[in-house]
Amino acid sequence: MHTHRHTHTKMNSHTSLQRSLLMKLYVFIRRLIYLNSNQTSCNQQIIKQVFIEPKWKLKNFGMHSSPGILYNQPSALVGRTGVASVTSWLAPIIWEGTFDTTLIDFIYKQQNLTIATTVFALGKYTRFLKDFLESAEQHYFVGFRVHYYLFTDLPEEVPEVKMGENRSLTVRKVPSLNRWQDISMGRMEILEKLIGNELANEADYIFCLDVDTKFYGRWGVETLGRLVGVIHPWFFDALRNQFTYERRPESQAYIPAGEGDYYYTAAAFGGSLEDVHHLTKTCREQMNIDAANSIEAIWHEESHLNKYFLYNKPSKLLSPEYLWRDINVGAAQIKIIRFTHVAKNNADVRPNP
Ligand code: UDP
Ligand code: MN
Repeated sequence: MHTHRHTHTKMNSHTSLQRSLLMKLYVFIRRLIYLNSNQTSCNQQIIKQVFIEPKWKLKNFGMHSSPGILYNQPSALVGRTGVASVTSWLAPIIWEGTFDTTLIDFIYKQQNLTIATTVFALGKYTRFLKDFLESAEQHYFVGFRVHYYLFTDLPEEVPEVKMGENRSLTVRKVPSLNRWQDISMGRMEILEKLIGNELANEADYIFCLDVDTKFYGRWGVETLGRLVGVIHPWFFDALRNQFTYERRPESQAYIPAGEGDYYYTAAAFGGSLEDVHHLTKTCREQMNIDAANSIEAIWHEESHLNKYFLYNKPSKLLSPEYLWRDINVGAAQIKIIRFTHVAKNNADVRPNP
């Protein structure tokens, strides 16, 4: 009985195997005929699928430690209190008390990274450069290779700032613009071009920062990630319907009521070259569509950035420690101010109201 059933199954499977082979042969011959009749277009399709490589390669060495590297024991039970250190899509939110600098510096030291850092100073904003650059040399990716790209319409006003080892500054002249809104929004296109045309073999990560700012504490490799957003210092404790998203459906930056995760600042964002290129390209395109429709989003590129981050979730978020309101302002959750806006009188420095 057993043998019989066995033989029977075997016979059956033989036939079905033969049938399936015949079927495959048939499909193969049909494909051959099709391929021959469409040889060029099919080959092109195949070439496109197989040979397009990403233009930017993000190094991935893993997170290696070594015997003898000593640091505090991480805990599965105790963490930073009073704030959330992970989003609902499981991206970390970086606060003081969530990382170990000894360990994380060791891990990233081995990766031989270059961090491109862009800053714009047009018109009277060149006055912020000295503090920005000097404080960055004190606190920003200390011990790592940093290449600043400074865009200005007044290269002669760029101050002489002594750069540390493995740190360099490239000054690029850009045309002046009459509206501060255009200067601010215009950054997206310049960044898109910089990444697309120049950075492929020059940098691993990029951060794009406002110049009316100053560093007071460590900003290091804990901030590195594929796509990195910074929570706006005025909205980290606000409800989503209080966020100043663009609310007019006519704008490409529109976010409907009831949607939104965080309100992100446009004064600092970054990540891998590929991700930041896509971000800047998308924002530039969306702003062009708005311009063609004679509409400007309420907070300019920041509105478009917020729309982008809503549907392209950042892989890492930085707490408002990484862009605070003012050095003289405190909040219970802010244990350290790392980077902050400086007091500025808009009427003094902007070219238009
Ligand atoms: N910016 C500039 N010149 C201007 C206006 C703006 O260089 O006349 C640049 C500068 O890098 C500045 C950024 O655009 O940090 C954003 O503008 P701003 O800081 O005035 O915006 P806010 O932070 O006040 O929203
Ligand atoms: Mn600013």
